[in-house]
Amino acid sequence: MHKDDNQVRVRFAPSPTGYLHVGGLRTALFNYLFARKHGGKFVLRIEDTDRKRSISGALEKLTTTLKGIGLQYDEGPDIGGNYGPYIQSQRTDIYKKYTQKLLDSGNAYYCFCSEERLNNLREEQRKRKRPPMYDGKCRDLSKDEVEDNLAQGMPFVIRLRYPREGKTVFDDVVRDRVAIDNSMVDDQVLIKSDGFPTYHLASVVDDHLMKITHVIRGEEWLSSVPKHIFLYESFGWKVPVFVHLPLLLNSDRSKLSKRQGDVSVESYIQKGYLPEVMLNFIALLGWHSADDREIYSLRELEDAFSLDRINKAGAVFDIEKLNWMGGQYIRNLDVEYIADQSRHFFEEAGMDISDNDKYLKVINTARDYVYCLADIVEHAKMFYEEMIFSEEDRKLIEEENSQKIYSYWIEELGKKVGWEPEEISSLTKQSIGELGIKGKKFYFPIRLALFGNCHGPDIPTLIDILGTDESIKRLETCLTR
Ligand code: GLU
Repeated sequence: MHKDDNQVRVRFAPSPTGYLHVGGLRTALFNYLFARKHGGKFVLRIEDTDRKRSISGALEKLTTTLKGIGLQYDEGPDIGGNYGPYIQSQRTDIYKKYTQKLLDSGNAYYCFCSEERLNNLREEQRKRKRPPMYDGKCRDLSKDEVEDNLAQGMPFVIRLRYPREGKTVFDDVVRDRVAIDNSMVDDQVLIKSDGFPTYHLASVVDDHLMKITHVIRGEEWLSSVPKHIFLYESFGWKVPVFVHLPLLLNSDRSKLSKRQGDVSVESYIQKGYLPEVMLNFIALLGWHSADDREIYSLRELEDAFSLDRINKAGAVFDIEKLNWMGGQYIRNLDVEYIADQSRHFFEEAGMDISDNDKYLKVINTARDYVYCLADIVEHAKMFYEEMIFSEEDRKLIEEENSQKIYSYWIEELGKKVGWEPEEISSLTKQSIGELGIKGKKFYFPIRLALFGNCHGPDIPTLIDILGTDESIKRLETCLTR
């Protein structure tokens, strides 16, 4: 027996659309986790047989995203493997061979119906509120008719001759036993008029040839399973285990938004949602641990994951929860790591972060306020840029109390260089005691002068980051008398 014969083998089989959908990432992640948990193989296969939808550059983008986020596959288009090629458009000869077998066994047939006829048929079915299905006109053409048509060069497709009667019953790990009336199953097109196979044929053939043991994918494919089983049985192949993951929903429980910005993994990564956050959040979309724990690293997920805790009910993509989790990670991970990940946002904003001590302090403070790294610049820029005051700010700055505070602090801070945060705390108490200005009347003007905002970090932190000289300079700019 070949060693792959008793090894778990799963696959992620996206179409190259140019971006990775969050639902796609969930499918990839669950496959990855299942493979890792069982010491199996995780395969990446590109399903690009819909030539109209294939986009150039999409493959590179996809592989970069998957690897960048940490889901390294064991076999795939760019790294090879024993069952390649892993791009379906490079496997057309294989599909031809298997289509011929189906034609020979009578499980598939040529269909010569024109686009126009099919459109009319669909229109009629729509009017009669029937599901759109092929009516079987070419199902029983004689051998001679077929050969004549082919000889005349008539365009054709090849369809599955799906049984009309009975039911198809199968087991799914998540949905348990599923029964679908055969009358609801279409004579699926297997080979299109451009000669390319459809997803259904190609994926079944590939899943078999690539020795896939478990098909883990989105629930939208559940109703296609009867066609797939029919194909497996027609070829005399073993049917894999099916695992259909629950639908992803918007907060209002409608099907997850189709707007690319909201569902593209790349756009979340670009905004600086950490890869760890995306994986952790996505792992909980339709799966939960035994103790409902929320925070997991990828390594921890590899141990904790199991198929029997995948939910049947749709999973809400709750952006609030994603943001909450984002904040948790940004605050709790190593500050050096967060600083590193944030660096390019600062560089793009043209900020000089060459003073690394200052930069680390800035990150350590600013990270309390954000859930994605793109926002960290917004909360950090006051430490790097000249302050611009509004008219309202100016009014507060010019108040007598504020001016008293500024003079006092300039004088006190000037007494030495290098103030420790605890000393600033004492100075704060001393200033409040001596000037008798406290609460908002103290904190708002001084924070405004140092940070450009009445709200924000505490005074010892601000002065620690800015340093004595810069703090004094900022206070001086606010002196009007
Ligand atoms: N190419 C299909 C998709 O993009 C794959 C479905 C499957 O996993 O079988 O959804």
